[in-house]
Amino acid sequence: MSICKILGVPFNNVSPSEAVDKIINMLNSKGKSMVFTPNPEMVMRARQDKEFMEILNSSTMNIPDGIGIVYASRFTKDPIKERVAGYDTLLSVFDSIKDTDKTVYFFGAAPGIAQRAKAAIEERFPGIKIVGCADGYFDSEKEKTIIADINEKKPSLLLVGIGFPKQEKWIYKNIKDLNIKTAVGVGGCFDGWCGNVPRAPKFFVDHGLEWFYRLIKQPYRIGRMMQLPLFMLTVIGNKLTGGMKR
Ligand code: UDP
Repeated sequence: MSICKILGVPFNNVSPSEAVDKIINMLNSKGKSMVFTPNPEMVMRARQDKEFMEILNSSTMNIPDGIGIVYASRFTKDPIKERVAGYDTLLSVFDSIKDTDKTVYFFGAAPGIAQRAKAAIEERFPGIKIVGCADGYFDSEKEKTIIADINEKKPSLLLVGIGFPKQEKWIYKNIKDLNIKTAVGVGGCFDGWCGNVPRAPKFFVDHGLEWFYRLIKQPYRIGRMMQLPLFMLTVIGNKLTGGMKR
């Protein structure tokens, strides 16, 4: 499985089903693993934040969660086949591990959201074992309680949705002390699964316009979204100056 590097961030060139298989393999293998889902905004942040860049380079798998990543990869020797949304990948993982001994923990989002997401996922995938939930707003005392709860529940799969780069840094820092197999940075997935933030209709997803739908629904994201054209310009600039060799 090849790696496509975009502005310093490596992406696994996987199809959606390969990404799911790879996560299932991680859950069944010996060591611990970290999965991140970088989008153009995260790549732009990593260029400014060395620690974040190193963490994105130390993961077990990065999936290309953004149509901008797919477009940018066309400037490399090894273009990415298609967008692999963390949101859908995890739904397929739930489908694969329901009725198995694998367990899941939801950590992140505003109070009550992870519980609502748990209820929604349990209804959609009967047999799934979501063994614990914690919200993503914590001080250091509460953080200790959350870590203790995770370690008591021993989930196979820990989903952390506390926004980037916080979630990737949190996973990187704590994974050695966590009684888990695989941790995934999931951004706003819990909000999506519980219906708090509606998912874009299929048309927008199929046409690479999910970002546009999010902009209409959450106009305050405009500042963040300006990173998208900046990202494409940086990729093109890099190509012209020969900075992006792969
Ligand atoms: N969040 C959190 N703790 C924080 C900051 C953010 O739990 O200290 C949550 C926030 O409530 C939201 C998620 O992190 O559920 C980030 O969502 P966003 O839509 O920004 O993520 P994206 O998918 O765009 O990365």
